[in-house]
Amino acid sequence: MIVLIAGPQGSGKGTVAAIVKQEFGWAHVSTGDLIRDEIKTGSEFGKKLAAIINEGKLVDDDTMLGLLQKRLDQPDAKKGVLLDGYPRNVEQAAALNKRFKVECVLKLDAPEDVLIKRISGRLNCPKCGKIYGIDFPPKKPGVCDVDGGQLFVRDDDKPEAVKKRLDTYYEKTEPIFKIYADKVKTIDSSQKIDLIMADVKAVLKGFRKTA
Ligand code: AMP
Repeated sequence: MIVLIAGPQGSGKGTVAAIVKQEFGWAHVSTGDLIRDEIKTGSEFGKKLAAIINEGKLVDDDTMLGLLQKRLDQPDAKKGVLLDGYPRNVEQAAALNKRFKVECVLKLDAPEDVLIKRISGRLNCPKCGKIYGIDFPPKKPGVCDVDGGQLFVRDDDKPEAVKKRLDTYYEKTEPIFKIYADKVKTIDSSQKIDLIMADVKAVLKGFRKTA
């Protein structure tokens, strides 16, 4: 069972997906995380991926499908998957639909100024992967609450790359919503997280039983 979570950078996909994973027991499959995991291995393949994503560009469709298929073959993906970051264009949507049935598309939406403010305030922990933001900062500036890791800004969250990523989103990713028209549920993600989650859960309730 696959539910897509889609929306521009900074719309809160990662935060929402982490809560759904915890409360629904579904796997959170983020193609951005799959890429970052490969980069962390230090492999030649990872170095090529880093060069692409740090410019705010998209990784090619065949590479992405290979990484995704491998992840969806894992046992934890059998119960239910919240797929985050894929499909990023209509070609990827067609490839996904050939192999899997998408039940629902959660579309998180917010005005561009809200998105830019959120992304530029995002801090990541290198040890546990926890993400902090302007609405949920760490207790001690620059330090992870969980394990004391020194927080950092992702290269692709820096202003030059963010603008490019948002342009790419509107040009390449927005058209996928037409493909899934009858399955798209739009959530106002400029709200506070508890209100966003109330809307998300109201939508997902109907799918929980099938998971
Ligand atoms: P994200 O964390 O989802 O914003 O992804 C970070 C970066 O990984 C993106 O800016 C792209 O360069 C790349 N990426 C993630 N998912 C995909 C995808 N489905 N297709 C192509 N590139 C992707």
